[in-house]
Amino acid sequence: MIIKPKIRGFICTNAHPKGCAASVQQQIDYVQSQGELPNKPKNVLVIGCSTGYGLASRITAAFAGGANTLGVCFEKPPSETKTGTAGWYNTAAFHQAAKAAGLYADTLNGDAFGKEMKQQVIDTLKANMGKVDLVIYSLASPRRTDPETGEIYKSTLKPVGQSFKTKTYDTDKNLVHEIALEPANEDEIQQTIKVMGGEDWELWLNALADADLLADGCKTTAYTYVGKELTWPIYGQATIGKAKEDLDRAAAAIVKSKAALNVQAYVSSLKALVTQASSAIPVMPLYISLIYKVMKDEGTHQGCIGQIYDLFADKLTQTQPQTDALGRLYMNDKETNDATQAKIKTLWDQVTQENFHELSDYAGYHHDFLQLFGFDVQGVDYDAEVEPLVSW
Ligand code: NAD
Repeated sequence: MIIKPKIRGFICTNAHPKGCAASVQQQIDYVQSQGELPNKPKNVLVIGCSTGYGLASRITAAFAGGANTLGVCFEKPPSETKTGTAGWYNTAAFHQAAKAAGLYADTLNGDAFGKEMKQQVIDTLKANMGKVDLVIYSLASPRRTDPETGEIYKSTLKPVGQSFKTKTYDTDKNLVHEIALEPANEDEIQQTIKVMGGEDWELWLNALADADLLADGCKTTAYTYVGKELTWPIYGQATIGKAKEDLDRAAAAIVKSKAALNVQAYVSSLKALVTQASSAIPVMPLYISLIYKVMKDEGTHQGCIGQIYDLFADKLTQTQPQTDALGRLYMNDKETNDATQAKIKTLWDQVTQENFHELSDYAGYHHDFLQLFGFDVQGVDYDAEVEPLVSW
């Protein structure tokens, strides 16, 4: 099969196995070039391991730390006629590289919110890996089925309290325009907290503790985006921000309930980057295209793998990591500092349909977007036949 990108709105509906493998290899090469981590975690569980920040976490733990990794993801396998999802191919490439490096790796594909997956993980850890000393929680999902009641919760991306008018860039129509977003009602806020808040993170830690699979001093982190004034109305202070606030509650609850095991639970605040999850958020393609421009000019731009390697090296694997006032591992200062935000705000105020491509780094955004699905990766021949049926 010859595979070219099929873009529909903010998503690409296919993926390129060789491109995904090359992009995974680039991330492995990057962490290996950065040097080994201090206080390396030995057994790492990554929930949401196949794309974006979770994949970068798994690669860092394994290839900069030599860790055994068990991953959980929700990806579609390929068929004779249809490609698998990018996360499927990324995971296959990760397994191949881990095997070649003599590293234990296993991945379970299914719904991480459900009881069945938690049991499968427990069984796999008991059989093959033992207690975990690091749990990464990196799920991004539009819905969650309640494991007790079967109720389906849906997350919404809406402001809270008042409507909000802002600029946005429609990647499909190549159009800078204004959108008006109506505020969420209370039910939408609560449902978003159910999906993207900390409840499931806590359930994971409870299940692992009950099965005696948390090592003494085990660390765990869930990822958040805090942002600044430009994104607060649609992120930080919006429905998704309310869900992310719930992660702070969950971190404190995990530390308290697992005190006998000395579990350290952190929310890590990361920078805005192009991932499958962020490209679905209104305003983000415009905001990210502008921060790419500013941060590349400042020499501070990083991709997922750069952010996560630094998170592991500078914070997560340190004995007493420095936290912000809210107890978070804050990695996002290069984006949210006042000087950088002021430059982005100036561009934001100036940007129009006419000057968008000149003022922004949309080319960089689009390249990163394609690369999420294994396209536009250097060294890959996209005119060549490629076998879509890849597995691990
Ligand atoms: P992503 O879409 O790239 O990754 C999501 C992962 O979750 C994938 O591995 C997917 O397979 C898995 N997943 C989704 N639903 C699942 C389910 N039901 N069961 C099992 N696995 C499931 O997203 P991302 O941007 O890397 O986001 C990861 C975390 O980082 C999120 O909490 C997000 O809010 C946070 N974050 C993202 C950004 C950003 O700019 N992208 C910035 C800061 C924080």
